[in-house]
Amino acid sequence: AGHIAYRDVTFAYVAGKEALRGISFEARPGETVALVGPSGAGKSTLISLMARLYDPTGGSVELDGRDLRDIRLESLRSHIAYVTQESFLFHATIAENLRFARSDASQEELEEACRRAYIHDFIAALPRGYDTAVGERGHRLSGGERQRLAIARAMLKNPRILILDEATSHLDSESEAYVQAALEELMRERTTLVIAHRLSTVLTADRILVLDGGRIVERGTHSQLLALN
Ligand code: ADP
Ligand code: ADP
Repeated sequence: AGHIAYRDVTFAYVAGKEALRGISFEARPGETVALVGPSGAGKSTLISLMARLYDPTGGSVELDGRDLRDIRLESLRSHIAYVTQESFLFHATIAENLRFARSDASQEELEEACRRAYIHDFIAALPRGYDTAVGERGHRLSGGERQRLAIARAMLKNPRILILDEATSHLDSESEAYVQAALEELMRERTTLVIAHRLSTVLTADRILVLDGGRIVERGTHSQLLALN
C-alpha cells in the first residue's frame, strides 16, 4: 500500500488560470518522487492536492486505486503525513508536540522518532519541557530544528506516504544534512515519499518530475535527465 496516481490532473486557483495542467504520474509503494522546477512552476500546488488541501479541477488523484475524494479524511490522515515549511508546531514542549501525532506514544518511541529525525539534542530535553519557541538555553529553535521536529512528528505516525514541501526552505547546511539523512532513512524503509525540494535526495529519487508553467516538462531518473541535457 502507498500507491499514488495522478491522472490528467488540472487545477486552477482562479477560474481560467490553471496552476496545473495535464499532470499524470504514479508513485509505487516505497518509491521516492522528487519535484523540481522554477518558483511558481506548480510544485507546492501539486503536492497540496495529495494532502487534499484542494481537489483537482479536472482529472483525479488516487491512493491505492481510490479517488482521494472517496476516502474519509480520518483515514487519509492516518496514511499520509504532510510536512511543509509552515508545518504547525504548538507553543508547547517538544514531547507534547510529538505526542500530538500519537497520544499513546511511549517515551522510548518519542526518543526513537527524535533519533530518526536527527534531533538527538532534543532527547535529553524531552522530559524537561524544552520549549518549541524558546530553547533550554534561551534561544529559539532554528527553522531547521523546527522542520526536523515536524518530520519526527510525522515519523511517529509511521505513515505509508510522506509528502514534504520544502520549496521555500532556507535551511542552514547542518540542518540540510540532517534532513537529508532522515529522508534517506525513510527511503530505506520504503515509505512512499513525494518531495519538492532542492536537497540531494533528488539525486537518488526513483523518479524526478520537472515542472514548468504547471506542466511536467521532463521526467526520468537523475542519470536519464542528465543524458537529455
Ligand atoms: P512552486 O511550488 O513550484 O513555486 P506554486 O504551486 O506555489 O509553485 O504556484 C503555482 C502557481 O499557482 C503560481 O502561478 C502561483 O502564483 C499560483 N498560486 C499558488 N498558490 C496560490 C493561491 N493560494 N492562490 C492563487 N494562486 C496561487
Ligand atoms: P503530523 O504533523 O504529525 O502529520 P497530524 O496529521 O495529526 O500530524 O496533524 C496535521 C498535520 O498534517 C500538519 O503537519 C499539517 O501541516 C498537515 N495537514 C494535513 N492535512 C492538512 C489540512 N487539510 N490542512 C492543514 N494542514 C494539514
